[in-house]
Amino acid sequence: MTRPYNFSAGPAAIPEEVLQQAAAEMLDWHGSGMSVMEMSHRGKEFIAICEQAEADLRELLAVPPEFKILFMQGGGLGENAIVPLNLSRAGTVDFVVTGSWSQKSRKEAGKYATEVHTAASGEASSFTTLPDPSTWQLSRGASYVHICSNETIHGVEFQQLPDLKALGSDAPLVIDFSSHVASRPVDWSRVGLAFGGAQKNLGPAGVTLVVVREDLIGHALPICPSAFDYKNVADADSRYNTPPTWGIYIAGLTFQWLKRQREGKFTGIAAIEARNIAKSTLLYDFIDQSGFYVNKVAMNARSRMNIPFLLADDELNDAFLAGAKERGLLQLKGHKSVGGMRASLYNAMPMAGVQALVAYMREFERQRA
Ligand SMILES: *Cc1c(COP(=O)(O)O)cnc(C)c1O
Repeated sequence: MTRPYNFSAGPAAIPEEVLQQAAAEMLDWHGSGMSVMEMSHRGKEFIAICEQAEADLRELLAVPPEFKILFMQGGGLGENAIVPLNLSRAGTVDFVVTGSWSQKSRKEAGKYATEVHTAASGEASSFTTLPDPSTWQLSRGASYVHICSNETIHGVEFQQLPDLKALGSDAPLVIDFSSHVASRPVDWSRVGLAFGGAQKNLGPAGVTLVVVREDLIGHALPICPSAFDYKNVADADSRYNTPPTWGIYIAGLTFQWLKRQREGKFTGIAAIEARNIAKSTLLYDFIDQSGFYVNKVAMNARSRMNIPFLLADDELNDAFLAGAKERGLLQLKGHKSVGGMRASLYNAMPMAGVQALVAYMREFERQRA
């Protein structure tokens, strides 16, 4: 039986091999007599799972030794508070607003930072473009600069992280990479902290990944909850309090799946990136040549992961979604703030799923246009 293709923006599709392995190990993990969900987070079995997950992720994403990898809870929105609680040092923080998620992050930071400064915004273009870094008005002495490196709702993605030093800023760059983590390499030389919820590209909801440079740890505001102080979490190897054990385990299986990926001469993240480029190119090229579908995002800002598109007539949206569901193409409805459709092509979406979507879109256009 082949499963339907799930285009959800999150929680999203998980590789079938990962689900199968989790099912096989559900009642008895490696002869321990326990499900991972039943293990002590301080027992040797879970510690081995956690350490392996961290090591695999470090290898996959080439995370340098001066960065800590933390598995936390609270999701992306939790980090919108946890980052300023740990990094703002009661100073000014800079935001580059490129869509709904960075907007939300900016608002939340206002509760904890003394001053929140908008260095640039793509709002004038309805978030269909990314403001060029050379135009950013960065503050002098900012505690950090926040960007959302892939805007899940508006479908805009930084194809290159900004080099803040070259822009005259010494501030660390904070990236919310929730919806494209592990879809492409990360240039860690430009990053101070990266955070992301797992439910887009890494596993189930409930675990939040934080990769943070060591020198940024240990400066939390006094009001920072102890369980969210990066120093406590780092010193306890992500086991300061009970971590999301099941989520870390599934993320770990996903990291192993990623390490096994091959695409031509590429392996691991390079392989998945090549596949993500091919998948998104197929869909964008089809949309662009069609007279019926449209994606309004500027070419150089288009996301490989989240592709919003409109039909020529909104009245046809329900029929489009119903026909898609009949063909096993699930969760294509766009976010209510932008309307239309959205196809999320995360790592777990195979090329065959995108081909099936394009075939359906072509057929629908032929019938309805
Ligand atoms: C999904 C998402 C979030 C929100 O994560 P939660 O886990 O729901 O808090 C934050 N940022 C981005 C870019 C996202 O895609």
